[in-house]
This record gives sequence, C-alpha cells and structure tokens, in this order.
Amino acid sequence: MFERTLFETPQEHIGLTRPEAPVMYFAPKVLRQQAERFGRLFRGQVTYALKANPAPEVLENLVAAGLSGFDVASPEEILQVRAASATADLHYNNPVRSRREVAAGKAARVRSWSVDDLSELHKLGAPSHAAEEISVRFKLPVKGAHYDFGAKFGATPEEAVTLLRAVAAAGYRPALTFHPGTQCSSPEAWAQYIEAAAEIARQAGVAPERLNVGGGFASHRSGAAPDLERVFKEIDRAVHQAFGAVPSLVCEPGRAMVAECFSLAACVKAVRRDGTLFLNDGIYGGFAEWRDISPSDRIICLSPEGAVRSGANRNRTVFGPTCDSLDRLPDAVALPEDVQEGDYLLFAGMGAYSLAIATRFNGYGIRDVVTVKRL
Ligand SMILES: *Cc1c(COP(=O)(O)O)cnc(C)c1O
Repeated sequence: MFERTLFETPQEHIGLTRPEAPVMYFAPKVLRQQAERFGRLFRGQVTYALKANPAPEVLENLVAAGLSGFDVASPEEILQVRAASATADLHYNNPVRSRREVAAGKAARVRSWSVDDLSELHKLGAPSHAAEEISVRFKLPVKGAHYDFGAKFGATPEEAVTLLRAVAAAGYRPALTFHPGTQCSSPEAWAQYIEAAAEIARQAGVAPERLNVGGGFASHRSGAAPDLERVFKEIDRAVHQAFGAVPSLVCEPGRAMVAECFSLAACVKAVRRDGTLFLNDGIYGGFAEWRDISPSDRIICLSPEGAVRSGANRNRTVFGPTCDSLDRLPDAVALPEDVQEGDYLLFAGMGAYSLAIATRFNGYGIRDVVTVKRL
C-alpha cells in the first residue's frame, strides 16, 4: 500500500488512498502552536488534562513545546505521562481516589492533589515531599459552560473553608481549584469563581500559594473562534482585584489544547432518496460527545478525488454505521446538495473527547491516525 507516512493535507491523503475506515488527521504543528499560545498568553503554569486526548504523539509534542505539567486522573494516566516525560509535574486532580490509587500517586511523587471532601484528605495522610500541594476543589452554581462540572465534584464554599484550613494544618502547600465546566465561553464564569476563591481564603485565614483555574476553555465549534486572550485577561484582572496576596496561577486545558490539531474524515456509505445520509462513523466512534455538547458545523464535503463539493447546503439526518438506532448525529447537519455515496466529510476541530472515548462497537471505529503538515 502506501509507504508514505507524512502527507501535506487530509485532502491529499483521501485523494491518494480513499480510506475505507474513518481517519483522524493530526497536525503536530497546530498542537505546538496552541501550546505556545497558552504559554505566551496565560500568566501561570499551563498543564494539560490528559483525558481529552492521551495519544502518545499528543503528549510528546506538548513536552517538546515546553509544557511542564499534566493533569492526570488515574495511575494509568501517570504511566502515559511518564512515557512522554520523566520530569513533568503530575497534578492528580480526580478528587475521588481509591487507597491503591493514592499509593500509586505517592510513589510517582505527585506534585499536586485536589480534594473536595475531608475523607479524601484523610486518605492522603501526611506529605511525602516538600513541594507536595493539595488544592481544595470548590463549586458554585455558575452558568456559562456547556454542562455543569459541579454536578459531580467540588465542595461548597463553606466546606472549602474547613478543608483549606485542614490542608494547611496537615502540612501540605495550600491551594484552591475549580473547573467552570467544559466548553465554557463566558469569561465572567472565571471571574465569579476567582472572587469566591478569595472569599474562601479570607474566611479560612489561609493564603493559597496557587490558584488552579481549571480547564473548560471553549474550542471553535461554530461561528467565530472563541477569544482565549479575553478569558486570560479577565482571569488576570479578577485575581488582582480579589486577592491581596496574589497566588500563582495554574490552568489545565484539555479541549482547547487539542481540539484544533485533529480533523476527522468519515466516508458517506449511502445517500437515501429522502436525503438521509449514512456515514462510516457515528456516536459510538469519533462523535461520541456530540449528544452532550453543541455539534460543530465546521464540515467540508470532498469527492473521492479530494475535491471540495460546493453545492448549496441542505439539512440532512445523518446516521452512523452501527445497527443501533441511537447511532445518529443530534440535530440536522447542513451538507451540500451534491453530496454522493463515496464522498468524505471532513470535520475540523475534532481532537478532544473523540479518539479518547471512541469504541469499536459493531466492528466499526477509527482505525488510523495520519500525520499531516496542515489541516
Ligand atoms: C476534564 C478536566 C479538565 C479539562 O477540561 P476541558 O473542558 O477539556 O478543558 C481539567 N481539569 C479537570 C480536573 C478535569 O477533570
């Protein structure tokens, strides 16, 4: 077959190989540029939340781009980070851990843990090295994100006051953290959390050394790209206004770091007379997240030769390949009038929560990740 492993663009690869299974196209340069952008614009430590996409090539490129820390949620994710970097900081920010998971994290010299309950603080015992930090995760009833992370984790501000005192008393470096919810496009959500963090610190009488402002930064799914710089400026403004002794900042983007560096190509298996489309990928594959989050309309339609179809758009029902009737993209998808069987749909901005959660249900699923120079 094809000996080449590097292609200019997805269009070139599609035209030359006409892939039968769905393909993820990865542009390392786009990832490195995004990591550098975070590093340049965010005034604090930038870490990466692995769960959005733990592919080894993602982690290696982030390390090469100078990323100094990772947010991990399990011992397996610690191993994945260590395969890419022997020295990067580990922030174990899944606030619920079994005792074996705690032991694995301690053995790996986790730099920072988050807790949202006294029982979890007790599981952690005493600090095992001087830099070891515990950040208290709190939640607010704040809107602005696509779905609410506070529904599962986070202490109330009152509980956080008690926890922060207990963290300092246990000899750990005290910190505070929150996650405004994924695909959060409103800078005000961060500002509200930051004000609440300062109030928790005041009431506890404990000055946090660091404030972790979470992930949640929105990716580009429709319309104009979200304004990351505006969010960072608001974070800076809010921190300086709310805190007397300004803590150093940490952020832990997942989605916003990796969404843009992957595009997903799915092939059109059939077009029905009523305009309904059947693709070779669906909600059990790369589109798993689409039921829970706004769909993306950043789609181009390519002929099997890789030429762009330019017919007027028409709304269509789009099904995935499995025999499960739930396997359907939510909402109608606007696609060109002249789309045909054998065409490819290329979805931009597909790097987050796609490969990481795709299944092989019914014998389908993404088979290949192809490296390209640009998307
Ligand atoms: C998932 C997660 C993130 C990343 O969230 P995104 O919305 O992908 O940026 C960051 N921090 C924690 C604790 C998480 O669980």
